[in-house]
Amino acid sequence: MLEKYTASLKALADFAWAHPEPGFREAACSRSQVDFLRAQGFEVTENVADTVTGYMAQWGSGRPVIAILGEFDALYGLQQKADCPEESPEPGMTMGHGCGHHLLGVGAIAGGLLLRDLLTERGLSGTVRIYGCPGEESGSGKAYMARDGWFDDCDAALTWHPANFHMVCRGSSQSCIQCYFRFYGVASHAASAPHLGRSALDACELMSVGVNYLREHMEDSDRVHYAYSNPGGGSPNVVQAFAEVRYLIRSTTNPKCEALYERVKDIARGAALMTGARLEIVFDEGLSNTVPNNALEAVMDGVFREIGVPEYTDEERAYARRFKETFPTEGQLSDMPLTLRDPGAVAENIRRSPLCDVYVETVPSDICEMGSTDVGDVSWVTPTATANLSCYSYGAGAHSWQWVAQGKSSVALKGMLHAGKVIALTGLRLVQHPELLNEARREFERRLAGGRYKSLIPEGVKPHFYD
Ligand SMILES: [Zn+2]
Repeated sequence: MLEKYTASLKALADFAWAHPEPGFREAACSRSQVDFLRAQGFEVTENVADTVTGYMAQWGSGRPVIAILGEFDALYGLQQKADCPEESPEPGMTMGHGCGHHLLGVGAIAGGLLLRDLLTERGLSGTVRIYGCPGEESGSGKAYMARDGWFDDCDAALTWHPANFHMVCRGSSQSCIQCYFRFYGVASHAASAPHLGRSALDACELMSVGVNYLREHMEDSDRVHYAYSNPGGGSPNVVQAFAEVRYLIRSTTNPKCEALYERVKDIARGAALMTGARLEIVFDEGLSNTVPNNALEAVMDGVFREIGVPEYTDEERAYARRFKETFPTEGQLSDMPLTLRDPGAVAENIRRSPLCDVYVETVPSDICEMGSTDVGDVSWVTPTATANLSCYSYGAGAHSWQWVAQGKSSVALKGMLHAGKVIALTGLRLVQHPELLNEARREFERRLAGGRYKSLIPEGVKPHFYD
């Protein structure tokens, strides 16, 4: 049933690939998708949650309300020629779709269109919502949309991500707080009057030392990363009057993440005290951990098992093999999801095949995979499930030039359209069987245990833009 849309969907994805845009500045991609959805009869609201490029497209009425989440932002520094199996930047481009979000957004649209058609054909009622979610890589668009209530009346949210595997995602993901620590010191001549200076760079360095001692006393699953976003200039003979370091602080739950954030802030205060610098802490982003929903995952898993995985031609296998050879097999073997039912079988598939040509079974789990996603915030508001669809060869993972290069291939297109089918058929099953939604809701309530969603983004902080 997706055949009649295939050419339009491919054109939308190719357009996004050729127009990579950063978070909250996905103007061209957002416009192309909004115009397409309006032409398809969806009622579209733009600029949701003051994100400018975020949109919500709705069809139908009444319950259930099935949310489908898409993304469309790109990554700096990953410009790469299409189909080229050696690193070769595309001239004139500064960004690329190294996480496959050009497919992700359009796959969500495919799911929405197909679900709309399936409901219409069967005379079923319900509301289909496609959310164009901006700024996943930087910006946390869904976190703002969730904080501002855009998912409050949804019965379930379904999404997917391009990947190396065909599977349903299980487990949780990390909470993450991103912030800037800015130190203001006093400039002076570093040789003739160092006693008059107060070094902001020293404060950053002492903070790093303190945080590195903290690591021994964090939980194993906590992560703290930092980058010097402004080291205070390139002149060693000037005592640095200003310096800034950017931190990402991750833990398995929001309260734990907030507690770790407080410890890091105390270290920054100590560094300011030691150097005589003044400290300013600027909140940047906050992403919630993912609340798993085994009941909803089971529905998606059932659908995926029934329809299986795309079939690949010899030509596609040869294409994928050229990319797989650019990356050591051991790399892929060392970076597999933690929730696989049979890791040995998956390893065997990786050794045997250039791409995933089997359905990879995963098991219900509360285990926290390292890394964060703003899908987590949606999962705190409504039961949420995510599928992974193989769109690329085995080998290099997300945020690689290999993913950019393969982004317009027939393998990628098959993955994207198949994602639409998995999402639409899962949505159809939920509409046809309200008891499945009730079960998902009961699990959702049980996991929240009376707690309510509290965004990590403080009130008053608005979506902001990145260069
Ligand atoms: Zn991504």
